[in-house]
Parts: sequence; C-alpha cells; structure tokens
Amino acid sequence: MTDNTTSPDPSDLTATVRALMPGVRADLEALTRIPSVSLDSFDPSHVDDSAEAVAQLLRDEGLEVEIVREGGRPAVIGRLAAPEGAPTITLYAHHDVQPPGQDKDWDTPPFEPTERDGRLYGRGAADDKAGVMAHVAALRAHGGRPPCGVNVFVEGEEEVGSDSLATILERHGDKLAADAIVLADSSNWKIGVPALTTSLRGMIRVVISVRTLDHSVHSGMFGGPVPDALTALTRLLASLHDEKGDVAVAGLVSGDAADLDFDEARLREESGLLDGVQVMGTGSFLSQLWTRPAITTIGIDAPAVDVASNTLVPSARAKVSMRIAPSEDPRAAYDLLRAHLQEHAPWGARVEVTLDDEGAGFDADADGPIYTAARSSFQDAWDGTEPVDIGVGGSIPFVAAFAEKFPDAAILVTGVEDPDTRAHGANESLHLGEFERVCLAEALLLQRLPDATSVE
Ligand SMILES: [Zn+2]
Repeated sequence: MTDNTTSPDPSDLTATVRALMPGVRADLEALTRIPSVSLDSFDPSHVDDSAEAVAQLLRDEGLEVEIVREGGRPAVIGRLAAPEGAPTITLYAHHDVQPPGQDKDWDTPPFEPTERDGRLYGRGAADDKAGVMAHVAALRAHGGRPPCGVNVFVEGEEEVGSDSLATILERHGDKLAADAIVLADSSNWKIGVPALTTSLRGMIRVVISVRTLDHSVHSGMFGGPVPDALTALTRLLASLHDEKGDVAVAGLVSGDAADLDFDEARLREESGLLDGVQVMGTGSFLSQLWTRPAITTIGIDAPAVDVASNTLVPSARAKVSMRIAPSEDPRAAYDLLRAHLQEHAPWGARVEVTLDDEGAGFDADADGPIYTAARSSFQDAWDGTEPVDIGVGGSIPFVAAFAEKFPDAAILVTGVEDPDTRAHGANESLHLGEFERVCLAEALLLQRLPDATSVE
C-alpha cells in the first residue's frame, strides 16, 4: 500500500499498473457481460445491474458510494476525501451502452467479451466500461489511498443523451466539485499516440418551412410563372453552401484545428465516401471537421415519389443540422442562420424557421499546471510520446454540462478509444495495450495533481 507522505516515482506506478492489469481486465469483462443498454426499449434492469456492479467496484476501493437517480437511469457517485490540504479530482465515465445491433454483424457475441489480436471485443468493452475501469485501475494503483481526493461519477444514460444529467448536477453537483475533472469517454489519436480532446463542436437544429401557394394546383395549368414550395425550398437549401462547398452563412465563427496528419484517403475510408464523389469545402479536413461550421439537410417533408402527382406543391419543410465552431454561441449561430434563410428566400417565398435543438460546444482552456501534469502523465505512459490536442466534430452533452457547472476546474477529456474501436458499431473493441497506458496515465495524474495545484 502506498504511503500518502511519499510520492512513488513513475517506474513504480508502471510496474504496479502492469501487475494490476489481469484483475482490471477480469473486472472489465464482468462489466461487459452486463447488457446495460439504456435505450427505452431495452430491459432497464440491466442498467440497474451495471450501476450496482460499478458501485461495488468503487466500494471495494474504499469510496463512499451512492446510486442516484433523478428521473432517468441510475448514476453512481463515489467519493474518497482528500488528504489534508490536497486537491480533488473528479473522474467521469458511463456504464450504459449502445444497443448491440444485429448479432449476425458481430464476429463473436456482443456481450461475451472475447480477445483477438490484442483487442477485447464486446459492446461496451471500450465505450465506456473501459473508461470506468481506467478510473478503478488508477485508484487501485494507489492502493486505495491516492495523494488527492477522488470523486467518481459514472453516468447511466450517456448513450441516450444524458437527459437527467442537468438535474443530477444541480442536486448532487456539490459532491463532484474538484480542481480537475477527467471525462474518460473520448479517443486517442492512433495506436501509440495519446490525445487530449480539447474541443467539441456545438450544434443547432432547425426546421425550415417554405410556403408559396394557398393550395396545390395543376402543374400544367400554372407551372412556369408560379413557383412551387419544393423548388423554392431546394434553392434555399442550396444557398447554404457556396460553389466550393463551404458554408455560406455569413458571420459564423470559424477556426483552425491542430496540424495533424489526416489525409483524404483516411477521410474516404472512415466515411465510406463513394469513388468519384469529391470532398467539399476548402481548408484542412480537420479544421472542416473540428473547428468550422458545417450544414447538413437531414430530412425533408414533401410528397413521396411513389405518390407524387403533377401538381405545384404549396408547402414543404426541411430539417437542417448545423455544427458550429467550439467557441460559437448557439443562439448567435441560430440568429445568423435564420437571417440567411430569410434573406435568401427565392421569389419571395414565405420562409419560417424554428429552433428544434441546440447544444453548446466545448473549447478547453488547455493550459496551466494541471494540463501540464496531464500531458506529462500521458507522455510517460506512452514511453515519451507527447499527447496531441484533438477535436471532436460532434457534441458530447455531458462535457458542456460539466464545463458549465464547474467553470474553475481544469476539464480533461480523455478516453480509451482508438480509430479502430468502432464504438456504437458491430465488433466494438478495446486495444488492450493502449488500455494499460490509459490506466497508467491516470494513475500518474493522480500522483502529480498535488504538485500541479500547489503552483497555481
Ligand atoms: Zn461513450
């Protein structure tokens, strides 16, 4: 057992974590066997079971544990008080998983964890039960007595949008206050290269209604001078991008991503872009994906092709999703988009825009001693390879929620995934070698946190 008054050197923790991994792996497999799908149509008792299993893992490390439920799926809160004068860290992961999809798409059963070629396959083996186990491993590495206070928060409904998280943070947030918050649900850059996720795009979603006619009329009698709503709508949608394919809405925030290696071949491979179809827009792909706005039409209400007749359609609707730069204010972005749509209404068509959903992005202040301590921990865990700063093009609601609730904490978005993880897909898997490094990095961070906070 580690004594609180001495700080073990990294090589000690490296050996300690290595020795712990078989046990950590066994516990990860046990968690993965629980089919804790949080979607409403799945048996909720499994999510209760996984909450209880996580609670027990934390109790075993000496944490004071409670399972909280605020109208949604159960979350687990564990707390270990800080030694006198020491800082506190909060560790986040989630114990619910995505539905497995069809069994036939899996090479081995989704809830029967199976190792192949150094990877552990199973639904949740990575996302995010490995995140849960990384936190447990870091606690174990310190013999249950880390040199800082540790709160663990393991959510039970991340995969369905974290609906009750705001209420949980409102009612229990004081138990999670910390100097640093590790949100372990993202990805590393690639095998051998760790990453900190320092930005997430925000999003807004709107519904656009276009009306041109009081009622539908014969296209032969009136087609020509009289505009139909569907043609007007498609022209309006077309105005959202310029000829190069960049977003044409004026005034939106736009930035540049870190200069990392990400070529067109990889983009094509990962997205499944068909041969001959060109990429759109200008600038680096990572900037396009992480730090610049993007607009996609995700649905249209119009007569279905099979039942369409020769009439001018009087009204049509579209749903449009806009990803916004990490630092963009969603409401400001919405105002700009709405103004663009009103201004570009073809032929004076009546355009109505309503806000359907919005979510703030995340733009970490990725500097300061805690970030420095985190980077050195990753670097040591990866044998000298420094972590890179990456972005995520999508939103992760809980990251923005934690950033808003704890504005003074250093927010570190880490994770166990790599480009081959296939989280949410069939044959999800965890790279076991990288997983050990994740566990070690977190154990090192716990060790280094007191020094990092004392220089602030
Ligand atoms: Zn996740």
